[in-house]
Amino acid sequence: MISKKSSLMVGVSGIRGIVGETLTPEVISCFGAAFGTYMNSGRVVVGRDTRVSGPMIKHLILGSLTAAGCEVIDLGIVTTPTCSLMAKEFKAAGAVIITGSHNPVEWNALKFLKTGGLFLNEKEGLRLLEIYNNGVFKQARWDGLRTEREDSSGAEKHLKKILANIDVKLIRKKRFKVTLDSCNGAGSLITQLLLKELGCQVIPINCKPDGLFPHNPEPISANLQELCKKVKTTGSDAGFAQDPDADRLAIIDSNGRYIGEEYSVALAADYLLKNTNNATVVVNMSTSMALDDIAKKHKARLVRTKVGEVHVAERMIAEKALIGGEGNGGVMWPQIHPVRDSLAGISLTLQNMAENNKTITELAAALPAYYIVKEKISCNPKNVKTVMTEIKKFYSNEKVETIDGITITGDKTRISVRPSNTEPIFRIFAESDSLKKSEDIAQNIKKIMTGILKKLAD
Ligand code: MG
Repeated sequence: MISKKSSLMVGVSGIRGIVGETLTPEVISCFGAAFGTYMNSGRVVVGRDTRVSGPMIKHLILGSLTAAGCEVIDLGIVTTPTCSLMAKEFKAAGAVIITGSHNPVEWNALKFLKTGGLFLNEKEGLRLLEIYNNGVFKQARWDGLRTEREDSSGAEKHLKKILANIDVKLIRKKRFKVTLDSCNGAGSLITQLLLKELGCQVIPINCKPDGLFPHNPEPISANLQELCKKVKTTGSDAGFAQDPDADRLAIIDSNGRYIGEEYSVALAADYLLKNTNNATVVVNMSTSMALDDIAKKHKARLVRTKVGEVHVAERMIAEKALIGGEGNGGVMWPQIHPVRDSLAGISLTLQNMAENNKTITELAAALPAYYIVKEKISCNPKNVKTVMTEIKKFYSNEKVETIDGITITGDKTRISVRPSNTEPIFRIFAESDSLKKSEDIAQNIKKIMTGILKKLAD
């Protein structure tokens, strides 16, 4: 879905834009009022990451929710998983998280959660958008206004929950040396606290929660070179990187090697499945085939969903899954809560290392190696359906799934073509057991799609 303002991205669970350009005070206030209306004047918790635009947006959101008659609890700077946990803790009707997540500093976003701390799903997101577009919002009278208060116990409660679910004693014994890069985001302080509780010697880089990002905040290899070097020069056992709202995790091994975001959920799943029979794992369609192999190895069932955290979360609950997540570093451990949580991912990684007495390099080497090549191709939205039909025809002799876009699975190969929800493009994922093969597959599908698009243009 794309709103009338072309670069304000309106997705299933929230809106994203550039502050002062598309994410204007008017848009923020109206979405706050729409969400307050949707919440039917219930209790709403509000959290934000460290971005410099955070306080301005927070005040607009607190005001508009209060005006709509909501009781508002301001959590201050918290990670996205902390905010979700607190929504549940306070039995809130919902939550607003103000975070541009992995996007550069000029962006910010509103993410909307419902009761239980889960993101709005497609149907709920459309209902909120309908209220926003109608422009008729609830307005409390002076005697119907409810309270607004601050609560700073989020980090403590989040840590308590994690520590209660892991073997703290075992990890403490190892005295791991860990370098942490929180990109000066919401994970900066809470993650240092977690690591200290786990007896780690922490070397923090970019852990000042001032929202001035020292590098592009997406936790991908190109942006984490400083961390990789630091891990090596300090002789750390591990390096951990988070995006500014700390829901995504990337891991660096003791050689200073970025092992890839796909491994965050793969390592966690491999570890937890080892000790459980007949478990279920839920991941989205873009997550590596390594998860299929890991599930098979442990006789577990793997379920794939559409891309979008809420799809994975809802399915995890329905399937009573043991573990799940997204290949972009999103570890979802429902024992804590069914949302992406880098702190849960860090804890599971350290416990895995401690319990098996292995380094990250050894643990990662034991997992199946796959290579994902990502590409995109522009496409006029009116042609999306035709392009999909033509691709399906082209691959009619292969195993084709249409859970989200089109996925064609072969022997250790997978192609996924998916129209973006926010941009007029198709996203292409090509995966296989060799980088060269994946690159060839990606170029081949791109060529096929270019041919289809050219025919449509003629
Ligand atoms: Mg994020």
